[in-house]
Amino acid sequence: MSPLDRVCAIVDAQGFSVGHSFYVRELTVKGVESCITLEFDPRINEEELTERAQRTIRYQTEYVHGLSLRPWAKVRSSRDIVKVLKGLYKVFKYGDERYFACKNQKLAVILRKAQIPFVDLKEYGAPPMRELDRDYGGDKFCRYHNSNERSSWTCSERKARHLSMWLTNWQMNHY
Ligand SMILES: [Zn+2]
Repeated sequence: MSPLDRVCAIVDAQGFSVGHSFYVRELTVKGVESCITLEFDPRINEEELTERAQRTIRYQTEYVHGLSLRPWAKVRSSRDIVKVLKGLYKVFKYGDERYFACKNQKLAVILRKAQIPFVDLKEYGAPPMRELDRDYGGDKFCRYHNSNERSSWTCSERKARHLSMWLTNWQMNHY
């Protein structure tokens, strides 16, 4: 039995790479029946960053995901990501279905740190986001993104839902 048949949830995170750090801004966990998306606050004071780091952040907001650096609401810190993932893993795993699955190198590093068993969908040929958008629709965003949506932006929830559909197809083809 492939680990792909024992996935309990698909996870994705979008956020900000600043220097060598990755600050999660939104996290989605998509199980069989439920899907949860949470916001995080990097708690970075932009004014204290170098000009170059500020440019990188603006680029990521404008062209990568459409998420502002800081959320409007008071939410948990990005530093809590390992703790939050561990808690969600306990909720989502059941029986033999004990793998999270993702296609996201930055999130993979965090999952390893959290010691959560996971499958890297890239190793099983999961396609890039633009192909998933083409196959499953590219116009859905969760409510956390800026309002003037660009179709090229990535939303963790859309990505997790698309990968979940891709995984279902994979399982049907390998039954
Ligand atoms: Zn989103």
